Amino acid sequence: MRALLSVSDKTGIVDLARSLHALGVTLLSTGGTAKLLAGQGLPVTEVAEVTGFPEMLDGRVKTLHPKVHGGLLARRDLPEHMAALREHGIQTIDILVVNLYPFEATVAKAGCTLADAIENIDIGGPAMVRSAAKNWKDVAVLTDASQYAGVVEELQASGRLSDKTRFGLSVAAFNRISNYDGAISDYLSSIAFDAADEVPKRSAYSAQANGRFIKLQDLRYGENPHQTAAFYRDLYPAPGSLVTAKQLQGKELSYNNIADADAAWECVKSFDEPACVIVKHANPCGVAVGGGPLQAYQKAFQTDPTSAFGGIIAFNRPLDGAAAEAISKQFVEVLMAPAYSPEALAVFKAKANVRVLQIDLPPGGPTAWDKGLNLSDVKRVGSGLLIQSADNHVLQREDLKVVTTLQPTPQQLEDLLFAWKVAKFVKSNAIVFCKDGMTMGVGAGQMSRLDSARIASIKAGHANLSLQGTAVASDAFFPFRDGLDVVVDAGASCVIQPGGSMRDQEVIDAANERGVAMVFSGVRHFRH
Ligand code: 5GP
Repeated sequence: MRALLSVSDKTGIVDLARSLHALGVTLLSTGGTAKLLAGQGLPVTEVAEVTGFPEMLDGRVKTLHPKVHGGLLARRDLPEHMAALREHGIQTIDILVVNLYPFEATVAKAGCTLADAIENIDIGGPAMVRSAAKNWKDVAVLTDASQYAGVVEELQASGRLSDKTRFGLSVAAFNRISNYDGAISDYLSSIAFDAADEVPKRSAYSAQANGRFIKLQDLRYGENPHQTAAFYRDLYPAPGSLVTAKQLQGKELSYNNIADADAAWECVKSFDEPACVIVKHANPCGVAVGGGPLQAYQKAFQTDPTSAFGGIIAFNRPLDGAAAEAISKQFVEVLMAPAYSPEALAVFKAKANVRVLQIDLPPGGPTAWDKGLNLSDVKRVGSGLLIQSADNHVLQREDLKVVTTLQPTPQQLEDLLFAWKVAKFVKSNAIVFCKDGMTMGVGAGQMSRLDSARIASIKAGHANLSLQGTAVASDAFFPFRDGLDVVVDAGASCVIQPGGSMRDQEVIDAANERGVAMVFSGVRHFRH
């Protein structure tokens, strides 16, 4: 048997070569690998000697030769193939050990130039891997050091490798090449090419559009029991995202659990202060900030105790025993927090069905994710995809424009900014009443803004909450004054909305007439 060894990452290669040599396998190798093996006293023939060509063009051409590819690709069961090898003086290669130029590691380094990246695109390595993997019936291809020990053991035990092993190695090889080419394609697609840039600027979206996903699990069913479903994660998940969660206990997550958990987690991590978010059917039905988890939970629950039943509850602070006790009195599907005290975990031990998830907040603080990650948002339409950057706009106090004669008080400004933050996570049309760091009425997902306003007010009534003196946020502008009249009739004393309607003046006049303060945010937060 003959083996060709050509590896960039030399981990484990000497031991492997030694074992192969002891089994009587002839060793061929490329420059760097050959030097290492020869230095260890192993008899090794350089590929250059086999091909009759020196390695050339800075290593770009080493193994791209019929003496190599013929030896890898020839079918041993076809006499014509074997005759062709004999005619051209080509010997078979039965084992190929290759790992590729470190493209992924190179482009992950800060300051990687385009020239560095290009030079780290391996050509001959993947070509040999493809040849060997295609000819898996006759050739074993090893593309990862983790495979070495198993192959050696099998060779020592039976003197040959089974079809099953060779087939498995071939599949792993094609997976590796596919990932490798994917990484090259992702990197090159992400570059905004400018000849002047030695270190290219990476754009936010194309890398995502070309993104590859890894299946985390098959789900029992989708949104409904007659739909099949699976859960995938990005190859490189963002820190602090839902897919990085660890499930500490409870039943398997369902499709709807995951979708709702994502909404709750994205919302809760947008707050700097201790916050609690309760989600039902992808909408927050209670959001509050407070001195700690217990206080935040109690306020959030109060918004809409009926809808909170069977909800998904998320915290951006470690959950303590007192908050856990309070939560355990309601039916909860999923609980999320960055950490749990032993007392909190003990409370849920007794409730085996509750899915308890631990998720680290993104490093750099609760809102760091808003600034830099540029996660993209994907929606399937027919046989197409809609891709957009994530809605990660964070409104600052100085962005607000007061448009009424009446100025909001500092407390009203606080409430308006809180309401705005929540409205961003409520499905459109969204109307959110808030006061003192808690939602007082949430109107979600209506086709008419007026109906969302009415629903928010009806829900506040059901929860015995008074909307007098509340701050209200509208995720998009009021097209007419009627929406403003409904929220003011309900008790709102200040309003935040994007502005930008043809009839802004009509709405501003209405606010002045009704004696409420109104600010424009200048941004819209549709969410569908
Ligand atoms: P060595 O350290 O042995 O000199 O080089 C090993 C590396 O060269 C491996 O990563 C292998 O995939 C790569 N390689 C082998 N043949 C060729 C070739 O013909 N062209 C290029 N660009 N790379 C090759």
